[in-house]
Amino acid sequence: MGTREERHKVHQDLVPLAALISRELKNEKMEKPTVKYGCAAQCKRGEDYFLMNTECQRIPGNPSSAFSVFGIFDGHNGNAAAIYSRENLLNHILSSIPRGLGRDEWLQALPRALVAGFVKTDKEFQSRGMNIIFPSLHLKSFILSFLKRTHAFSVILLHVTGLTSGTTATFVIVDGWTVTVACVGDSRCILDTQGVSISELTVDHRLEENEEERQRVRASGGAIGRLSICAGTEVGPLRCWPGGLCLSRSIGDMDVGEFIVPIPHVKQVKLSNKGGRLILASDGIWDALPSEMAANSCRGLPAELASRQVVKEALRKRGLKDDTTCIVIDIIPPDINRQPLPTPKKLSMLQALFFRKRSHDSARRLARKLSAVSIVEELFEEGSAMLAERLGSNDSNNQTTFGIFICAVCQADLASNEGISVHAGSMFSTSSNPWQGPFLCGDCQSKKDAMEGKRPSGIRVA
Ligand SMILES: [Zn+2]
Repeated sequence: MGTREERHKVHQDLVPLAALISRELKNEKMEKPTVKYGCAAQCKRGEDYFLMNTECQRIPGNPSSAFSVFGIFDGHNGNAAAIYSRENLLNHILSSIPRGLGRDEWLQALPRALVAGFVKTDKEFQSRGMNIIFPSLHLKSFILSFLKRTHAFSVILLHVTGLTSGTTATFVIVDGWTVTVACVGDSRCILDTQGVSISELTVDHRLEENEEERQRVRASGGAIGRLSICAGTEVGPLRCWPGGLCLSRSIGDMDVGEFIVPIPHVKQVKLSNKGGRLILASDGIWDALPSEMAANSCRGLPAELASRQVVKEALRKRGLKDDTTCIVIDIIPPDINRQPLPTPKKLSMLQALFFRKRSHDSARRLARKLSAVSIVEELFEEGSAMLAERLGSNDSNNQTTFGIFICAVCQADLASNEGISVHAGSMFSTSSNPWQGPFLCGDCQSKKDAMEGKRPSGIRVA
């Protein structure tokens, strides 16, 4: 060990570092970034819908608990599912979060609440459709038992009533520096961290491009193939049958197999204090522009102009072949007025490594310390289609879990002898105790079985 003076110097060096980190954490808590956004759309079929709200409040009446939500719903076979999701998804997500949580616990609860909210929206949309067709409960039960045996007839009936519609749903929640994205379908969301990296926060659920999803659909009893025209010639993208949908996950779609699930891929990241830009768009954009090209095409423009520029660039490349919607969201540090984003730089290996993979506690602490150098901290990512895996287990020490006496999906009250553990009978259970919560009501348990291929596919009945 060196002289007393040297040891004293080392000691002096350590104190400012600790103070610096503590100051940064304090600043983080005090200063929130500004969120600016813009949206542009070109309509071809009238089935794209979007949602933008920067005035949501975690604690009603408390402006300091404000957060922003953005969503794109790209409908198919009509617009009913897209409109229903736009109107109801946010409420269903928020009602799945236990009350009285602090901000950190609230953010931790979001991934599971997003899963519950998506499944509840899908289930209620289908249930609502059935109620429109069969307002009488007795008539409904009688006809449902008939429909289960006659798939072709029920599909025709649903088509006639306009209830075969389905939708993609990509939902973004921005709370301070933390961005949480959930999606089913192929409306992609990318993150551009000001020239450091461009990364995708969503996974495209297209059968053509997603081998993992093809395996899941086949394992659940679905058939996958292309449209066959005369002389056996196959055309178009891979689709699943029955139904013929090219997506493997969606909300709605009552005429397809139950293996087309509404369980979203969820990713949560924390931006560095340099902020970043999110580009959220329907496939009308992504079929024309790769992610990098979309990000580069609007660099340096404010959000409103940037969204228009991305749509313009997509139309220039491919023409108006589909509904084309783009939302650009800028998350801007509080200490700067919006400066145009720098022109794209080529990534160095070192910079590429700065986009951290799934973090553990130590990595999380390190990433916090390094947030001043443009590191995006990955807090959570999960894409499994198994509800048992996604809802996890109730742990009495964890405040973010669901209540014991309510259904973890639809929040219906459960009698003490009524709830069925989400882990019961599941080979994918993450719990060693199949009697452990969270619990589901009978209806939601039935839906879970169907999504896992344990009920004959065909018409979805709620
Ligand atoms: Zn339920």
